Amino acid sequence: MQFFIYNSITRRKELFKPIHKGKVSMYTCGPTVYDFSHIGNFRTFIFQDLLKRWLIHLGYNVKHIMNITDVDDKTIKKSMQSNLSLKTITENYTSEFMNDIMWLKINPADNYPKATDHIEDMIKMIETLIFNKMAYVGGDGSVYFDISSYKNYGKLSNIIIKQSTKRNFRRLQDEYQVNDPQDFALWKKRKLSDGNIFWNSPWGQGRPGWHIECSAMSIKLLGTHFDIHCGGVDNIFPHHENEIAQSVGSTGEKFVNYWIHSEHLMVDGSKMSKSKSNFYTLNDLKEKGFCPQSIRFQLLSGHYRTKITFSLKKKHESDKIINRISNFYFDLKRFGADKMQGHHLPEAYESFKSCLNNDLDTPGALAVFLKWMKEANKNIDSDLREKWNFMKVFDSVFKFIKQEPEKIETKVKGLLNDREKARDRKDWKKADQLRAKILEHGWIIEDTKDGQKLKKNA
Ligand code: AMP
Ligand code: ZN
Repeated sequence: MQFFIYNSITRRKELFKPIHKGKVSMYTCGPTVYDFSHIGNFRTFIFQDLLKRWLIHLGYNVKHIMNITDVDDKTIKKSMQSNLSLKTITENYTSEFMNDIMWLKINPADNYPKATDHIEDMIKMIETLIFNKMAYVGGDGSVYFDISSYKNYGKLSNIIIKQSTKRNFRRLQDEYQVNDPQDFALWKKRKLSDGNIFWNSPWGQGRPGWHIECSAMSIKLLGTHFDIHCGGVDNIFPHHENEIAQSVGSTGEKFVNYWIHSEHLMVDGSKMSKSKSNFYTLNDLKEKGFCPQSIRFQLLSGHYRTKITFSLKKKHESDKIINRISNFYFDLKRFGADKMQGHHLPEAYESFKSCLNNDLDTPGALAVFLKWMKEANKNIDSDLREKWNFMKVFDSVFKFIKQEPEKIETKVKGLLNDREKARDRKDWKKADQLRAKILEHGWIIEDTKDGQKLKKNA
């Protein structure tokens, strides 16, 4: 069975064929670390996680690089406004990001290169582009890419360059209006508003433009030509269009074989984004009682190329499904399915696989799985090993199974009972002694209006 995936640059589903047999090189645009990432960002990162996990399941050895944008317009602005150094801001939010991806069970990348560690590579690339007559120093001292020098400019985003809009309309911002092609900054001359944030270069003090960061880091770590480059659809233009122009312009080689983009997570009909303040961070969702599996379910139950809306109202429904799947998994374990031999899989696995092989059809694959699970649950103790094998495959791709609740030892249960009785007869001294005994066994008691609750002592 072969894996087909939609390639944004050819605008069709294509058979996936890696450059080197059995290996996949993959670059995903990472976070801009000036604030917490929101779950819109995580829709994109969780989609990329699913893609990577599916490639691993298909037997590929995946080399995955995700960059950290730790210098750009937004990070500098935040540093200047908060009076904290760029490093203090970006290191703090990088570490928050790392905690978030661990919590969401995202398979970590092999490397998270930081833009500020690769300024030399960016300068070299800009020098090559100037040498190749594809870039020039503008009247303001910044260096620009001349989009008319690259004949395929616009191929990814389907944008047409009008001669009249060239050069005169170039701006310094990293992001600009959709459908507004223009020469873009590779190196930005130092401005007053940059404070002390600058690097020396052949063009004087300044800093790199955002787009050159990803070209330099991806080529450095994956080579001039690699398999997959991902991002959200908002990255297509101008970011990825510009990455192609700079990369091909400086190496003379094809840059990326498959451009894969996921659609936006929406709120009330518009894109979830920091600038619109219509977002949830993971901390917001943790406070509302969300578990990582339930968030993953909501973000993966829609197809990656359709817009989806995240909803607090759907929490109950997604929690229910996650619990059902987790309970089935632990029931199989209780029946000893994990101790049995054999690699066979049920027939439903073939349908599940063909859904994911068809442009990562996650809603289709989930429907197949849930239908199978419902049937398989009816006589759970038959064909245990094949059920277990499918569950393991399923969880290696979706990561929906919750951790097994910790078992309370019989001895602790007895002590808990004694304490309940002591409390009933208002023997507070005894109740306190029993609390201390229970703590010795590693459990903390909370007395709530619904009775005693146990929590593992961390
Ligand atoms: P940023 O931290 O802004 O550089 O964004 C990191 C990633 O999140 C990029 O790949 C964006 O395309 C993606 N992204 C931003 N907003 C959304 C959204 N509302 N839905 C899905 N992906 C998003
Ligand atoms: Zn990027």
